[in-house]
Amino acid sequence: MDGVQERDGGEYAIEAAGLRKTFNGVAAVDGVSFSVRRGEVFGFLGPNGAGKTTTVRMLTGVIRPDGGSARILGHDIVRAPVRAKQGFGVVPETANAYADLTAGQNLMLVAGLYGLDRSKAERRAEALLSALGLFERQDDRVQGFSKGMKQRLILAMALLHEPDLLFLDEPTGGLDVQSTHLILSMLRDLNAAGTTIFLTTHNMDEANRLCDRVAIMRTGRIVALDAPERLKMAIERLHTVEVSFDGRVEAGALAALAGIVSADREGDRWVIATADVDAAVRALVGFAGAEGLRIVRLNTPAPTLDEAFLRLTEGTG
Ligand code: ATP
Repeated sequence: MDGVQERDGGEYAIEAAGLRKTFNGVAAVDGVSFSVRRGEVFGFLGPNGAGKTTTVRMLTGVIRPDGGSARILGHDIVRAPVRAKQGFGVVPETANAYADLTAGQNLMLVAGLYGLDRSKAERRAEALLSALGLFERQDDRVQGFSKGMKQRLILAMALLHEPDLLFLDEPTGGLDVQSTHLILSMLRDLNAAGTTIFLTTHNMDEANRLCDRVAIMRTGRIVALDAPERLKMAIERLHTVEVSFDGRVEAGALAALAGIVSADREGDRWVIATADVDAAVRALVGFAGAEGLRIVRLNTPAPTLDEAFLRLTEGTG
């Protein structure tokens, strides 16, 4: 049970310790630990299937972890889910508004679920709908809404009970510029007013613009966690070397060479990520000599941030 002093949760909004979830014998989340301070904007960045949504679903009490624990605003999400849920709002990956109801009816449904005072909830609903550009559409059924309008309504629904912490899973994925802009500016205003924000995204640039800290996830694990500018600097320091040999080579053999971070095969060439081009080229030449291979081509193209990010999240393959 939660004690009285746990009620305000102290310094941290989220404390995850060793979270694990396995589906059909495969670890979707494989020992994830991190803390999010109150007032922070924290991003989870990673490619499809990295385990971001599974982590959010464990943190928000939708699915039970196979191992580890999470405290949300000071409450253990498995042992005290109701108390935890009173303090946070969720914008899930897939739309959860009722299509047969109007925007206003969906909001009043949420008000009922949280036991909010009706007239106070109506005033707040109006303010949220206005801020999110939906005021004129409040009496229209959600059925006719565009994807961006639905997503803005879901954000309003998640905010109706004035949560201290907001979870968003890919909040702007596939949205047009106007909806993206409205959502991002709402998130900035909320954070300025003290709301803690946890979001997942594929978009490096969005994470960079919004987040105080970013965790990069890959195959169920956090592989890097830092302020976005520092991550960017670390990622930008990764360069690319492209090499082709006249014979067969194993990815693991290349990735094990000095100075090489990862090696990916693209057709008949290898794309190597390295922080030290000189060391990587020397290692590749040495490797070719030792294996009796000829280097057919060797190229050191200028890196782009997106490519470097992909190398970091995809690893050896
Ligand atoms: P995306 O960006 O595509 O949403 P993600 O990083 O959120 O990806 P998850 O949705 O958490 O990744 O998925 C992680 C892994 O777990 C994937 O391999 C996925 O197929 C698997 N997975 C997730 N949910 C389930 C489920 N309910 N049953 C079986 N496998 C699942």
